[in-house]
Amino acid sequence: MSRVFNFSAGPATLPEAVLEQARDELLDWRGVGASIVELSHRGPEFMAVAAEAEADLRRLLSVTDDYAVLFLAGGATTAQALIPLNIASPGQRVDFVVTGHWGKTSIKQARPYVDAHIAATGEAGGFRDIPPRASWQLSPDAAYVHITANETIHGVEFRDVPDVGAVPLVADFSSSIASEPLDVSKFGVIYAGAQKNLGPVGVTVVILRRDLLERAGQPRADIFDYRSHVKGESMLNTPPTWNWYLAGLVFKWMLAEGGVEEFARRNVRKSTLLYDAIDGSGGFYRNEVAVPARSRMNVPFFLADPALDKAFLAESVEAGLIGLKGHRALGGMRASIYNAMPEKGVHALVDFMGDFRKRHG
Ligand code: PMP
Repeated sequence: MSRVFNFSAGPATLPEAVLEQARDELLDWRGVGASIVELSHRGPEFMAVAAEAEADLRRLLSVTDDYAVLFLAGGATTAQALIPLNIASPGQRVDFVVTGHWGKTSIKQARPYVDAHIAATGEAGGFRDIPPRASWQLSPDAAYVHITANETIHGVEFRDVPDVGAVPLVADFSSSIASEPLDVSKFGVIYAGAQKNLGPVGVTVVILRRDLLERAGQPRADIFDYRSHVKGESMLNTPPTWNWYLAGLVFKWMLAEGGVEEFARRNVRKSTLLYDAIDGSGGFYRNEVAVPARSRMNVPFFLADPALDKAFLAESVEAGLIGLKGHRALGGMRASIYNAMPEKGVHALVDFMGDFRKRHG
């Protein structure tokens, strides 16, 4: 068996130790004689897995009791629709700060329910920077302010939590959750699809300040009601047990590796290595994002000569590096270097890029 370095944006590479453990436990989970995915979600075995996953995630991100933690199906996109349904009144203003593609999808999902107001957008500049805080047109009566903590396609990431005053801040952390320490108390809602930093696709983490659940929100089915999900401990209907279990293994792995502080150090080293290789390539490679807004998780880059893109991708695969093709919206290349990407993977990528430049530059 030979595993490659996988730079896919999501679904993304998982820690090898987690995959090995899942393999070892697949047929017979801890002597039960059945797989964890074959057991009832309401049985003692899975209930224990679920409770442990929540406790571990709380520990990892220092989430206090005044926040509920949900493990739901539907992906981050569904959360983008459910959040306005739950915490904004019909037609109420919501302020969006748009720093890339996913900020736009969050507006698309909320628009049927609220007065979606673009408080600031980096679109005119091609989403290469975060609009300065002083330029944001915030509304004092907004239900919440929405940001995308890390834009997975454009590679633009907030370094600091913006101050938006008394209006709750809602943040899409799909591609950067648990990549560094986070002050949860600065947010009303944090949500993230699991398939980048937390585990396999199929489970979505929603971290909600409990007082927001007292808001009436909008008429909605019980299954769309976060209060019901909190009351039902994310088991209002059959939850994605396999995904939840695997995410739980990833949480344990992250804690054992040293927690988010340790991953922050690794992520600084990995992203610095890669950006330095790009910036030091004499223009052969380029990343167009303003330096302070550069993502530590997703690094889009372009070859000066796009005619070389095909060769770059083909040769990278031969070198054991996969998933480097950029998103179709931007073209070029993108290296996603989440927590589970080992430092030696980024070294291998940088070595390959240097070698490719020598041969084609
Ligand atoms: N937000 C961000 C930042 C994302 O990267 C993605 C997926 N790439 C989404 C939202 C949408 O997530 P999902 O496919 O889980 O709905």
